[in-house]
Amino acid sequence: MRYRRDVPGQLVLWDVDHTLINAGRAGWRAYQLAFGRMFGRDVPVAPSLAGRTDRAIALHTLALAGVPDPRAQVDAFQRILAQVAPDVADVVREHGRVLPGAAEAVRALTAAAAADGGLLVQSVLTGNMRVMAEVKLGALGLDRHLDLRVGAYGDAHEIRADLVPLARASAAAVYGADFSGPATVLVGDTPLDVEAARVAGARAVAVASGEFSVADLVAAGADAVLPDLTDTAGVLAAIRPAWGRLG
Ligand SMILES: [Mg+2]
Repeated sequence: MRYRRDVPGQLVLWDVDHTLINAGRAGWRAYQLAFGRMFGRDVPVAPSLAGRTDRAIALHTLALAGVPDPRAQVDAFQRILAQVAPDVADVVREHGRVLPGAAEAVRALTAAAAADGGLLVQSVLTGNMRVMAEVKLGALGLDRHLDLRVGAYGDAHEIRADLVPLARASAAAVYGADFSGPATVLVGDTPLDVEAARVAGARAVAVASGEFSVADLVAAGADAVLPDLTDTAGVLAAIRPAWGRLG
């Protein structure tokens, strides 16, 4: 791939659930299937999921279910979760949806970067384990402009902020560019997405399409907050302020 060296490269890392898509509770269905397969009974209650990584959710689920020593069991549980993830693709197709403006925003970013000759890499930074993210995005046809190879996924860490250096390092290795500081942009719907960006010195763009309001996300310290992704020009300007001056 050739690109202009004088235009700074940019790594845009999208959160998945409630930012790009609503998966129709497919993730929780996978937890139920995995728990039933491993322990032969139902999960008692659903833990809170917003902004947390699959590793954190898995640990919490095992603890809530009274499983002794969850930390000793979490890797085995995640292996089973990965096995059952493809089984919930139908749930995503049937009950999930791409959130308004998300597909257009992803496409427009690729087009805008191509127009100004800059390198722009789009991927995900998500609490989902990798296979679950692939199943959800693939089922809804949203994987086309996202380079899922260089994403960071929630089976790697309990703490979301720890995922940012992983994505930066793999994008740097694949594209031979430097994505340090605000050259990396996180787009997400929770204060944990904003915190992950701030801890890593990345730009934080927050979208109030989940359970948190614009005011919540402003208070969390996001650099830009959008009500949703329907204003494509606004999304582009929030992600790369220099584009705001073009139109
Ligand atoms: Mg989210």
